[in-house]
Amino acid sequence: MKLIFLGPPGAGKGTHAKRLSEQLGLAHLAAGDCLRKQIAGGTALGLQAKDIIQRGELVPDDLVNRMMEEEMAGAMKEYRGFILDGYPRTMNQAEALDLFCAQKNVAIDAAVNFRTSEQVIVERLGGRLICGSCGANYHRTNIPPRQEGLCDRCGKVLTQRKDDNPETIKNRLAVYRKETAPLIDFYREKRILNEFDGDQPLEALCAQLLTFFESLNKTLR
Ligand code: ADP
Repeated sequence: MKLIFLGPPGAGKGTHAKRLSEQLGLAHLAAGDCLRKQIAGGTALGLQAKDIIQRGELVPDDLVNRMMEEEMAGAMKEYRGFILDGYPRTMNQAEALDLFCAQKNVAIDAAVNFRTSEQVIVERLGGRLICGSCGANYHRTNIPPRQEGLCDRCGKVLTQRKDDNPETIKNRLAVYRKETAPLIDFYREKRILNEFDGDQPLEALCAQLLTFFESLNKTLR
C-alpha cells in the first residue's frame, strides 16, 4: 500500500502516520523528519535546509525530490509499502512523484487529506513537544507524556521545535495555502482523494483511518 498524507502543518499527519505505519507494516517517510536528520548530521543538504525551515519556507523541490526518491526506493526493498508524510508539498513535487511511480511501475493507492481548522492548528502547534532522540510526538495538554517533560519511550528530555513559534507558524500556514492546498484538487481529479476531519480527537480519527486502510488493503490484495 502506498499512501500520501496531505494537510496543513499541525493536522496530525505525523502522529497518525507514525501509529498507522507500525500497525500496517508500512515505512513512514516524513519529509520534515528526513530534513531534520540531515541538519543534525551536518550534511550539505542539512546546511541548505536549516535556515529555510527556521523561516517556515519550503526547501527547493529538486533537493526534496532527490531525498524522497532515495527514501522511497529504500523503503520499497524493506517494506510492503509506505506513507508519505509532508511530501509532496508543491505541484512540482507531485509531478516528480508521478514520474518516479511511472518509472518504478508502482501506483499511489490513496491520498488522505486531513481537513483541519486554523484555530485547531495554532493550538496544536503551540503545544507540540517532540523527543529529539526517538522522534516521538506529544502535546502539552492533548497528548501529555506520563512524566512532565520526558519522553515515554526513551526517557529523554522533550523540546519544542524551533519552527513551532507564532511567527513561523503563520508563515508555514501561508505557504501551505499557496503551495500545498492545490494538491487536494490534483488528487481529487485522479480519484484517489479521501478526506477526513482532522479536528477530531486523536483516538476517534485513528479508528476511522484504520478501518479505511484495512478495507483499502483488502481491495488491493
Ligand atoms: P509540519 O507539517 O508540521 O509543517 P514538517 O516536519 O513536515 O512539519 O516540515 C517542517 C519544515 O520542513 C517545513 O516547514 C519545510 O520548511 C520543510 N519541509 C518539509 N517537507 C517539505 C517538502 N516536501 N518540501 C519542501 N520543504 C519541506
